[in-house]
Amino acid sequence: MPSAFISHADCNRHEMGSCHPECPERLSAINDQLLISGYLNFMDAYDAPLASIEQISRAHSALYVQELIAQSPKEGYQLVDPDTKMNPHTINAALRAAGAAIQATDLVLDGAASNAFCCVRPPGHHAERDAAMGFCFFNNVAVGIRHALDVRGIQKVALIDFDVHHGNGSEDIFRDDERVMMCSIFEKDLYPFTGEYIPEKRMINVGIPTRSKSDVFREAVEQYWIPALEQFQPEMIYISAGFDAHREDDMGNLGLVEGDYEWVTKKILEVAQKHSQGRIVSCLEGGYVLSPLARSVAAHIKVLIGAD
Ligand SMILES: [Zn+2]
Repeated sequence: MPSAFISHADCNRHEMGSCHPECPERLSAINDQLLISGYLNFMDAYDAPLASIEQISRAHSALYVQELIAQSPKEGYQLVDPDTKMNPHTINAALRAAGAAIQATDLVLDGAASNAFCCVRPPGHHAERDAAMGFCFFNNVAVGIRHALDVRGIQKVALIDFDVHHGNGSEDIFRDDERVMMCSIFEKDLYPFTGEYIPEKRMINVGIPTRSKSDVFREAVEQYWIPALEQFQPEMIYISAGFDAHREDDMGNLGLVEGDYEWVTKKILEVAQKHSQGRIVSCLEGGYVLSPLARSVAAHIKVLIGAD
């Protein structure tokens, strides 16, 4: 069965000004790289649907969703956080990005795709239940997870986040949800300055020191994530796939390379094959320098499609 590649042209219409690092060119660079690599030939491509307000409200408060939509500007920009602004197309892009996670969930659970990659923006893992933050509006992966749990009857889900920044939004949404285990590795003492290791809350948050490279990252995966995942035995695995821990990405100060993204994807796939019938939904988060972003996504997808 092929992997699914889910995206939408609307995701390119959201932009936050010419100097903003979370820019539409990110998706174009990824697409170009995947075309050159030939990997898209092995995937079924889908246009992401718009998530409904009801679907979004499984991860966010209804009031927040209402207020965000009400702030959508007719022209120009509306600032919602010091780093995060809306243009007239943002809401549609954000609804598509969350809709991609829902569609990915359905495709994988229906057996129509072996796994799925959501190539979308805006990203989601900083968006809290009641707040937009850090380039994020709706927490795409969280919307997908709540769809799996509340609508599709899945009982246990793992969320794996290897973005250089801690996914504070995902923690905010899932800390008290016993059905979800969050495993993250991020740069310590970096924005958003959150992410405590709380195993009793299934928050396997591991901050690693600035300038850490492959060895420290891989050790943390083996020491913290794998035993926790083996014990939890998730029925499905979601990935907050941020690639800004790459050594060429200046948004953080970690030293990962493409080979690390390939390696960690293999590790996740092994757990998924053992416990979760191979079910993986991966959603793009960060990664801001175009060339390493595109190369890293390709390394991740190479494993998902089984071309490694
Ligand atoms: Zn990030």
